[in-house]
Amino acid sequence: MNVRHSGTMAPVPSGRVHNLINIGAYSVLAAGALYAARQNLLVITPAQALNFTVAYAAGTFLLSPDLDLAEGRVDSKRHWGVLGILWVPYGMLFSHRGWSHSWVIGPLTRLLYVALIVALVVGLVKFVAPEVQLPRIPQPVAWKFILPLLIGYYLSQWLHLIADGVRPDHGLRKGYRKVRGR
Ligand SMILES: [Zn+2]
Repeated sequence: MNVRHSGTMAPVPSGRVHNLINIGAYSVLAAGALYAARQNLLVITPAQALNFTVAYAAGTFLLSPDLDLAEGRVDSKRHWGVLGILWVPYGMLFSHRGWSHSWVIGPLTRLLYVALIVALVVGLVKFVAPEVQLPRIPQPVAWKFILPLLIGYYLSQWLHLIADGVRPDHGLRKGYRKVRGR
């Protein structure tokens, strides 16, 4: 399903084109990182590379800014399968290319949204079946573990925004309302 953004702005890439851009950028980046590592210019552990890749893929295919269209049919919602329905409230909450498409807050809203759903599910499980042992996050979580996740996620989001022609100060400018709406 290709979703075309419309409205006052110039046409921007469909979900499929966004995916291709992100996959292409990843290939270039991976080749560059591999080369730099071979030349001993860069030290990346396999775990860090994996974290980066997982977060980048999640950001590209599952947590795309275009989930602000999830009240309709959109590529990134389809990847969730039946769980795609969970994103409908997010789509209703955020106007297309509004806060969801800002550089810092936008990606954060989707992380918080996922955290909220997880918290609701955990709460429900604890209420219905208190004896169930839920997996725990080992504490403390190290920065060298979190950082590749954050970089991978945010990079995937920023590539989407760049392809959309959204500037880093989006949402901070006065003319913000003009670019809202679909
Ligand atoms: Zn977009």
